[in-house]
Amino acid sequence: MAMRSDDWQSSRAAGVNPAQFAILALLEGCPEGMGVKEIAAGVLVSQPSATDSIAALERKGLVEKRPDPADLRALRILCTPAGLDLVQVERGRPGTAERAADALEPDMQEQMLLALIAMIRQLQENGDIPIQRMCVSCRYFSPFAHADAANPHHCNFVDAAFVQKDLRIDCREHETADPSLRAATWSAFSKDHSHPPGQ
Ligand code: SF4
Repeated sequence: MAMRSDDWQSSRAAGVNPAQFAILALLEGCPEGMGVKEIAAGVLVSQPSATDSIAALERKGLVEKRPDPADLRALRILCTPAGLDLVQVERGRPGTAERAADALEPDMQEQMLLALIAMIRQLQENGDIPIQRMCVSCRYFSPFAHADAANPHHCNFVDAAFVQKDLRIDCREHETADPSLRAATWSAFSKDHSHPPGQ
């Protein structure tokens, strides 16, 4: 309820409705744009609903349509600079749940992040939500690649080690790994991720 209330407040402040704000937030991390079908799957609405929301956002100057270079009969939807600004301003305001999470002890925050990652992955496996932009489904992710317990993971996109608490659940640079790599990554990650936080 707290997160839904945050969504309503963010969208009201932005002058859009929550479905439209969810589409803007999805497109913000996708500079090459997305097709209507992808957008509908990404925000879990029907294609006609996504089409209506996109039309409303276009009238407000927050998204634009461009021909898809890979298929000139298709269109891709992109955020305009005004749409990007709007999402970034709203994302800069910590929400109710974020403030509550910030108040937790670091170990508890890390355990919560791990549980959240496992739960999102399970929803993906069950086919209830599309693949999210998490490290554990990214082709650049190498879990527990380093013996250094402080920085065990490796991101091959930036070629750097990183700490468990910096595992991403919504990364712009994410590229979905193929199913066999995702399975191998999850196996390596889940085998070791029960290590006590910070060790
Ligand atoms: S590109 Fe992003 S999602 Fe992929 S491993 Fe690096 S930080 Fe994680």
